[in-house]
Amino acid sequence: MTARVIRSLCIGCGACVKMCPLGAITVRANLARVDGARCDECEECIFACPKGAIVL
Ligand code: SF4
Ligand code: SF4
Repeated sequence: MTARVIRSLCIGCGACVKMCPLGAITVRANLARVDGARCDECEECIFACPKGAIVL
């Protein structure tokens, strides 16, 4: 398992990108995407997201 983004909730704010210690998240076209090969499930992005758009 890795963190994943619920597309319908993400507003592309980038808060998760700043918080990820492994640089596993990118935002393009107002949608965040997690690189599952980098994510170590630390959950920082989940706490950072104001929309509750990231889950494990
Ligand atoms: S769970 Fe941690 S490592 Fe994985 S995408 Fe979120 S902040 Fe990055
Ligand atoms: S913090 Fe949440 S709403 Fe903002 S870009 Fe990341 S997943 Fe999307």
